[in-house]
Amino acid sequence: MSDRDLLNQQLNQKWKQLQRETNSIGQAHYNLDHSFEVKISFKLDKSVSIGAFIPNKENPNEYKAHPQTLRALKKDLFVADNKCELFSKIIRCHSCNTEIDTQFWIHCPFCETSFNS
Ligand SMILES: [Zn+2]
Repeated sequence: MSDRDLLNQQLNQKWKQLQRETNSIGQAHYNLDHSFEVKISFKLDKSVSIGAFIPNKENPNEYKAHPQTLRALKKDLFVADNKCELFSKIIRCHSCNTEIDTQFWIHCPFCETSFNS
């Protein structure tokens, strides 16, 4: 299975999970009819700290980031709520001991170690 196929499979699973979520009175928790896509662009800047994103004050959809950070960042993020809690999965990198939310990263942005190694 290609990386793209695996990503599509993961996104479909998350979409189905969102469809199943209900609130305390048994109704759909998310209004999926009002979903939207946001495209963010990045400018490479080695002066930015690894793991950080500096917003462009003139363009709200553009950020500066270190190339190592962008290599680690997932290219398609599926966000269901403002706090990004639904798909959060916090792990501690076994190499650099940093806490990482794997919903955003392909590998550790700080030391580039794979989560699976
Ligand atoms: Zn690490």
